[in-house]
Amino acid sequence: MTTDTLAIKVTKATTSKLSTVDFDNLPFGKTFSDHMLTATYADGEWKDFEILPFGEIGLSPAISALHYGQAFFEGLKAYKHDDSKISVFRPDQNAKRFNKSAERLCMPELPTELFIQSIAALVDVDRAWVPSKKDYTLYIRPFMFATDPYLGVAPSTTYKFMVLLGPTGPYFSKNLRVKIETEYTRAAEGGFGYAKAAGNYAGSLLPAKKAAEQGFDQLIWTDAKTHEYVEEMGAANVMFVINGKLITPLTRDTILNGVTRGSILQLAKDAGIEVEERRVSVSEIVTAVDNGTCTDIFGAGTAATIAQVSELVHEGKTYTLPNPAESVFANTMRKTLDDIKYGRVEDVKGWNLMI
Ligand SMILES: *Cc1c(COP(=O)(O)O)cnc(C)c1O
Repeated sequence: MTTDTLAIKVTKATTSKLSTVDFDNLPFGKTFSDHMLTATYADGEWKDFEILPFGEIGLSPAISALHYGQAFFEGLKAYKHDDSKISVFRPDQNAKRFNKSAERLCMPELPTELFIQSIAALVDVDRAWVPSKKDYTLYIRPFMFATDPYLGVAPSTTYKFMVLLGPTGPYFSKNLRVKIETEYTRAAEGGFGYAKAAGNYAGSLLPAKKAAEQGFDQLIWTDAKTHEYVEEMGAANVMFVINGKLITPLTRDTILNGVTRGSILQLAKDAGIEVEERRVSVSEIVTAVDNGTCTDIFGAGTAATIAQVSELVHEGKTYTLPNPAESVFANTMRKTLDDIKYGRVEDVKGWNLMI
């Protein structure tokens, strides 16, 4: 761990909550570790990096994050290897994206080193919280929000950077029934769909709720202008295997550039699989599912790694995919990624930050 350049004040919790946690029942996002990290941006600089017991934070009700949504987050995970070593997967990529989000929302950048060292220090303090059980992880949630107590619509001059940790169980690997959304939009050209901005998720709740009421597990977003091109699946990138080729929408300002997406593309290329990043039309997909050339559709993201689709519905018509359990591509890729993350194979790409 390299905290040499960053002085972090550490105040340990007097008692640990660890023994009260039921590790067999860990719904995502509800259990938090003993500590959290906070830092403050004021007078043009980041300062007061501090690890302290997890708990409530007192803030003015006028902070601009609450009124105008100057807030964004990241999501990554720590993994425990069989030899009890702990790694975090590609935090440099999240640091890069963190600063893209910051720039778009008129918020201050956080130097990559400070982002990574903050995460490394917090995970180290709470290393006992990284679950040992197979397929379990410690979820890491860095975020930044505006703290000026000012109701004018203007960029805040003060901010908080925080990191929370929570142990989480394996993603429920149900095969998904997915709707191609042709009414609502997640992101429009010129907007900030590529940022992990809090407001993007608020806007997705109603379409997701309606889709759930219609019996769907998830929806595939299409472009705002024509609804003819696929963009993402829920809060994950969407990927297709057609005629043995891996195809995914090219990232642009309406698409979040996922770390999982990038990792899968690289591993596929390494394995000699043809990869296409380009615009992908709805008609191409439904035709390929219909004629059996599309063997895989899946969402790619940190939460689920790979979430496979078994049924696709477009304008009321259902398209059924081959049995996801038998998919060679998705299952091999999931294993390849997990083998790297859990240290079961040599990390030849240097993707794991060892804590
Ligand atoms: C977080 C996120 C992803 C996946 O990114 P990863 O870095 O792979 O976790 C994709 N799309 C959206 C909209 C997201 O919020």
